[in-house]
Amino acid sequence: MKAVYIEAHGGPEVLTYGERPEPEVQAGEVKIRVKATALNRLDLYTREGGRGLEKEFPPPLILGGDCAGEVVECADGVAGFKPGDRVVVNPRLSCMQCAPCLAGQDDLCRRSRFLGSAIDGSYAEFISVPAANAHLLADSVSFEQAAAAPTTYLPVWNMLVRRLQLKAWQTVLVLSASAGVGTAAIQVAKDVIGATVIATTSSPEKAAKATALGADVVINYTDEDIRERVREITGGAGVDCVVDHVGADFFAPAFASLRTGGRYGICGATTGLRTELHLGLLFSQQKEIYGAFMGTKEDMREIVEMLNRGIVKPVVDRTFPLAEAAAAHAAMEATSFFGKLILTQ
Ligand SMILES: [Zn+2]
Repeated sequence: MKAVYIEAHGGPEVLTYGERPEPEVQAGEVKIRVKATALNRLDLYTREGGRGLEKEFPPPLILGGDCAGEVVECADGVAGFKPGDRVVVNPRLSCMQCAPCLAGQDDLCRRSRFLGSAIDGSYAEFISVPAANAHLLADSVSFEQAAAAPTTYLPVWNMLVRRLQLKAWQTVLVLSASAGVGTAAIQVAKDVIGATVIATTSSPEKAAKATALGADVVINYTDEDIRERVREITGGAGVDCVVDHVGADFFAPAFASLRTGGRYGICGATTGLRTELHLGLLFSQQKEIYGAFMGTKEDMREIVEMLNRGIVKPVVDRTFPLAEAAAAHAAMEATSFFGKLILTQ
């Protein structure tokens, strides 16, 4: 089958479009003809071999996790799927045997693995995944939109819906509105919860798109002070919740924008992993910080339910043919997009 794989770490030029063996269907799995796969930062980190993701080659590794497509084969005993079914894939495989997994807290599984990083992924014509990681899609959801959902909506759902418990009468600050997680956070906060959304971004063009998506106020951080603007907007109180997926560059103003007793969720650190925390303000203002890494299988089930009902539509910036994966990686590194970059076939 055709696939995009790496045989060494490096820049986009190490992405090779060529032939790889088709995956076999193992016990409990479904085999899927991939129609769309979404780029994630994890793909770039895996390609570069940074952030603890250095691998030994051979064998080559097929990148990609988030994907959607059609079931072509089911292992004996797999229930709930048949060839021709449209599905979206949760790219995080948990062991389903450890104590957290058995307790329904599979986002805490210590033996979890990512498609396209630990094992071959979805930049390919076919992929085989555990049936527990496939979810039936309504005909109204395009493969591109479905592929854009898992890695952006899972941490957002984990934070805003399950743990931070954002309410309709509260206000959330969403950092970096243009990235996949930013767009998902605006949509979940507005269209699912009905909260007031303050978003940050870097240009008037991106600000207009964030407003169209549902942000009530957009702060352009290139010429406005995030903390000062949040104070003005909230009458000095600060926001109830923060959704942070960018880390070091914005932690200080975002943490300072949180009200006393507010909740801070962080699910990524694309601008840097280390920052300073004022412990006095943490305890005296009784703020809470939550780390979120993807979500549970139940979170994913709820997200797909929401997609299938048309409550939110994931934002797709651009699609590229699978063969042009290197160009898509270069576009992601240039951060000149709003929403998700998708490979199609
Ligand atoms: Zn487990």
